[in-house]
Amino acid sequence: MVQKYGGTSVGSVDRIHNVAARAVAAQAAGNEVVLIVSAMAGETNRLLDLARRVTELPDRRELDVIAATGEQVSSALVAMAIQSQGGKARSFLGHQLKIRTDSAFTSARILAIDAEALRQSLKHGSIAVVAGFQGVDDAGNITTLGRGGSDTSAVAVAAAIRADVCEIYTDVDGVYTADPNVCPGARKIERISYEEMLELAALGAKVLQRRSVEVAMKYGVPIHVRSSFSDAPGTWVVGEEAGLESVVVTGVTSDKSEARVMLVAVEDRPGVVATIFGALAAENISVDMIIQNASSDATGRTDVTFTAAKSELDRVDKVVQAVAEQVGAREVRFERDIAKVSIVGLGMRSHAGVAARMFDILFREGINIQAIATSEIKVSCIVAAKYAELAVRALHDGFGLDRPTTTG
Ligand code: ADP
Ligand code: ASP
Ligand code: MG
Repeated sequence: MVQKYGGTSVGSVDRIHNVAARAVAAQAAGNEVVLIVSAMAGETNRLLDLARRVTELPDRRELDVIAATGEQVSSALVAMAIQSQGGKARSFLGHQLKIRTDSAFTSARILAIDAEALRQSLKHGSIAVVAGFQGVDDAGNITTLGRGGSDTSAVAVAAAIRADVCEIYTDVDGVYTADPNVCPGARKIERISYEEMLELAALGAKVLQRRSVEVAMKYGVPIHVRSSFSDAPGTWVVGEEAGLESVVVTGVTSDKSEARVMLVAVEDRPGVVATIFGALAAENISVDMIIQNASSDATGRTDVTFTAAKSELDRVDKVVQAVAEQVGAREVRFERDIAKVSIVGLGMRSHAGVAARMFDILFREGINIQAIATSEIKVSCIVAAKYAELAVRALHDGFGLDRPTTTG
């Protein structure tokens, strides 16, 4: 089995000993155990802040060299703790396991893992303690997998060694109908489909990194999200099957990590959006929602709005300013104080009127909707950032998510 422990779970010497004890117990119960560990709580933020105090726009390759050290420390500490408790353990860094990634520094993707080293370690009765979040590219550079990336390390390792289960130990005891730290009425979900978990993760529920769910879905790895502070069963993330709750809306989530960018009064002619988004793509900048109005009058001009990660805004600014003149934009506006609130559920496929109900719930709270996006199993609205928590609670209530549902 693979067990992944997040930052809070390895946040102190006592907690590191707790992790070691759990791993030793799991091994004593007859399992071959691979641990993936995150950096100690707060450490990755500390390291990245340090870099930004040296220079405003740090080089991404060097950022990864710094950020990866957090997991190097915790993997060694956990291995030592296991040894001190009489167990056998050995730490592994990304390059030692040949966790090969592409070269997209700060958000690299895993290409392959050399499972042989792990198998050897397991064969000798040793617990392998793998540093999460990090890998190595073909040129030997250290890479990291994006914030929350240890989840993805864990699922990828589980897939590589064909583990029976990938347990994700964190500071909540499962996946809830909304972030329990935001929504007091949130309820633990027993089983959730990969599809729904993927949307929740992509739309802001940071309990699992989005890519970890993608990898789990691709390789059919069952994920069990649970608490490192108790033995209570958590949430199983599994393929679509009977036993999933039959509800229209499974979860509500919000995301404040994006900003809105508006190119005002660009020319309404072929090639304008191609120019704007081509330039962004050339810089490897992902955009999320895109809204373009039809030009409403004879001016032949329209507004193009999109959202992108706040952390990319400096780069977005450069690119957009460079094309603004070319597309005839009168002005470029940035709005950072926004949040995306979303509802997710497989049941939406077969129910009409879900979006309308969402708009009505937000309206009743006096919350203005700035943009909307829908797909088969989700609806997202952009609202003012100050309303994010209120919107989550209102939607959670409005869709009755605090009430237990029938299963099967
Ligand atoms: P770790 O450090 O263990 O990786 P994270 O902080 O990345 O932990 O993820 C756990 C956090 O995710 C919880 O503390 C909770 O606030 C947040 N969260 C957001 N949405 C949800 C949800 N739907 N269910 C459970 N937790 C959620
Ligand atoms: N330490 C990394 C982060 O804080 C990776 C992780 O915790 O999953 O983002
Ligand atoms: Mg996390």
